Amino acid sequence: MRTVAVTKIGSLRDPDESSRGRVGLVDFPEQELGPEDVRIRVAYAAICGSDPHLAEGFFGTDVPIGLGHEISGVIEELGERAHRNGLQVGDRVAGNFLRFCGTCRPCQDGRQQFCENIQDYNRPGMSEQIVWHESQVYKLPDEVSLLQGCLLEPTSVAVRIADKTRIRVGDRVLICGGGPIGQLALQVMGRNGATSLTMVEPIAERREMAMRHGAKHVIDPIAEDQYARADEITGGRGYDVVIDASGSPRAVKGLLDLAAKGGTVIYGAMYPEKFEMPLNLSDYLYLRELTLTGVFVSPYAFPRALQLLPELSLDELTQAVFALEDAEEAFAVHLSGRYPKVVIRCNDLEGAEGIR
Ligand SMILES: [Zn+2]
Ligand SMILES: [Zn+2]
Repeated sequence: MRTVAVTKIGSLRDPDESSRGRVGLVDFPEQELGPEDVRIRVAYAAICGSDPHLAEGFFGTDVPIGLGHEISGVIEELGERAHRNGLQVGDRVAGNFLRFCGTCRPCQDGRQQFCENIQDYNRPGMSEQIVWHESQVYKLPDEVSLLQGCLLEPTSVAVRIADKTRIRVGDRVLICGGGPIGQLALQVMGRNGATSLTMVEPIAERREMAMRHGAKHVIDPIAEDQYARADEITGGRGYDVVIDASGSPRAVKGLLDLAAKGGTVIYGAMYPEKFEMPLNLSDYLYLRELTLTGVFVSPYAFPRALQLLPELSLDELTQAVFALEDAEEAFAVHLSGRYPKVVIRCNDLEGAEGIR
């Protein structure tokens, strides 16, 4: 079973080829189908901003490390008891790459993101097929294509970010970073009653994309003074909600100064392991009462992400599609930033038996 995997640990951006990380196709054994499991023929797997961090060894250094957690596909086989959510062979599906066991204390305590068995079904999805537990699998609405369906997982992250903002209708909202999570969060926050909706992003195409999908203002943090612009937009009051979707140590430092008194700042990306940010407690927590939080994974968000998917505009995130054989090139294009999102076609399923 061909799977895209990290084959050498190292930064994929390292200019020195001898130490640079590598991604390539590896043959992994097929997974067994348990009684509550679902075998899915993968149609599409999108490259995530976190995938290059895996190449750097963030979650372990034993290669090969299989990649891919943003997938869509078609059900090929169901375990004998995998019928509780009405899934059928031939269904077009997407899902959560994590299985929350439901049995451990965090699961029973409303904190599935800290499930103690979270890795049990975390399998590489940039692959010809994958076996998931039925609780991970969601049937796609008819109006959502398989290509759009692979964006269910990143959409669930945008929903979870929105949950953590605890936005009130009318709150002023700023998003830093116009990659896929930032763009999806923009659309989700726009539907949540955000005002003065602002995207901070250095790449012009991504700022323009944000303007097409609900941003009222865009700021180029390199060419413009973002604090002066934020003052101008918010009448000097700052933003009630500030979301970082950039993961960039350079970008996140200044975000606290864009927040209004009593505001919430969500660090909604993955950050370099060793990166530390100074925090003046007197200023930001005592005098300004800011709430700072983050997002690890997205529990309880998939059913709502599924509801939203047909209503979001996703086409600009599905323009760059590469064949499984060309995974290495797909990662190079992802790193170039030329497209906001790069997708790998793991099997050509749209032609088959009326599936689209
Ligand atoms: Zn992701
Ligand atoms: Zn659990």
